[in-house]
Amino acid sequence: MLEEKKDLKSFSFEELTEEFLALGEKKFRATQVFDWLHKRGAVDFSQMTNLPAGLRGKLAEAYTIVSLREVTRLNSAQDETVKFLFALPDDKVIESVFMKYKHGNSVCISSQAGCRMGCRFCASTLGGLERNLLPSEMLEQIYRIQELTGERVSNVVVMGTGEPMDNYDNLVKFLRLICAPEGQNMSIRNITVSTCGIVENMRRLAEEGLPVTLALSLHAPNDEARRRLMPVANKYALKDVLAACDYYFEQTGRRISYEYSLVAGENDTEAEADALGKLLKGKNCHVNLIPVNPIKEREYKQSSFKNVLNFRKRLEKYKINVTIRRELGADIGAACGQLRKSHLDSGTQGDEV
Ligand code: SAH
Repeated sequence: MLEEKKDLKSFSFEELTEEFLALGEKKFRATQVFDWLHKRGAVDFSQMTNLPAGLRGKLAEAYTIVSLREVTRLNSAQDETVKFLFALPDDKVIESVFMKYKHGNSVCISSQAGCRMGCRFCASTLGGLERNLLPSEMLEQIYRIQELTGERVSNVVVMGTGEPMDNYDNLVKFLRLICAPEGQNMSIRNITVSTCGIVENMRRLAEEGLPVTLALSLHAPNDEARRRLMPVANKYALKDVLAACDYYFEQTGRRISYEYSLVAGENDTEAEADALGKLLKGKNCHVNLIPVNPIKEREYKQSSFKNVLNFRKRLEKYKINVTIRRELGADIGAACGQLRKSHLDSGTQGDEV
C-alpha cells in the first residue's frame, strides 16, 4: 500500500528543520520551504523556485501541501464582509468569514467540519461532526483569504464551525504556527478562541503559554436554562466552567469574553439579566450580546431590539462591560454555519461554481 504523504504545512519550524536534517538537507532549505508555505502561500512544490529541482521532486514524492479550493464566495452588500465556502482536500466543505474593522482585518475560521456539540440554535451542528481540521487546514483559511482578497489579515477568531476545544492538539499546533516568527508572525493577542465550555481543555490552554482571548459561550445564567440550549451543559456544571474561566484569567491575565446569544423567551428576561449580572459581578470580563440568528430548522426567534437594549442596561448596573455584536454581513447569513448547511442541503458538495 502507498504510504500516505506527510502534511508539510502542519510541521512547526523546528519539526521541519529536523525533518530536513534527517533527509540530509541543509538547515537553510527548511527555512526556505517554511517561508514558501507560511509567508508566500505556496500550494505546489513547483513554485519553490529557489530550491534545486531535484529537491522539489524528492519533496513532492513524500509530502503534500494541503490547500483549500474556493467553492463559493458571498459578498455582503451592506459592508465589506466576505464569506467563503472552501473545499478541503477530501472535498468536505467548511466556511470562513473575512471582516473589515477599523483596527484591522479579521478572519473567522472553522476548527472542524461539522460539530458534535449539539447547541440547539446553531446550524453548524445539525449534520453532526464530519472530522477535525488539521493545523494546515486552519492556517489555509487565512492564507487563501489573504491571497484571494489581496488584504493582510491581522486578527483571527476561532468562532466558525466546530468546537476548537474538541480538536485541542490541532488547535494548539495551529496557534503556534500562525504566530511563528518565521511565518505570519501574528500576535497571539490578536487571536480569540471561542468555546462552549470544555473545562479540562480550557484549563490546559491556560497553561500552554498561548494567551489568546478566550470567549466562553455562556448563553444562560444557570445550569437549567443552559442545558435547554446547550447539551454540553449536561457534562459540565456552570460553576466548573466559570472556575475554569477564572483560572484562565489568573494564568494569562487575559480578560474573558462571555458570549450570550439572546433568544426570545428562552434567556432574555430581566430576571435572567439580573442573574447574569450577579454571576459575573466583580469579574474582569466582557459580555458580548448576540441577537440570535434564527435558523430555519429551529423555532428560535431573535429578542426584540428593545429587549436587547434593556438586557444590556440591566447588566451595566452590575458594572459589567457589555457590547452588542454588530451584525456584519447579516445579509449573507454570515453567522454560524448557515452557508455550509445550505450548500450540503443542495447536494452540490465539492462542485465549483
Ligand atoms: N464551538 C464554539 C465556537 C463556534 S460558535 C463555541 O461554542 O463557542 C461561535 C459563537 O456563535 C458561539 O457563542 C455560539 O454559541 C454562537 N452561535 C451559534 N449559532 C448561533 C446563532 N444561530 N445565533 C447566534 N449565535 C450563535
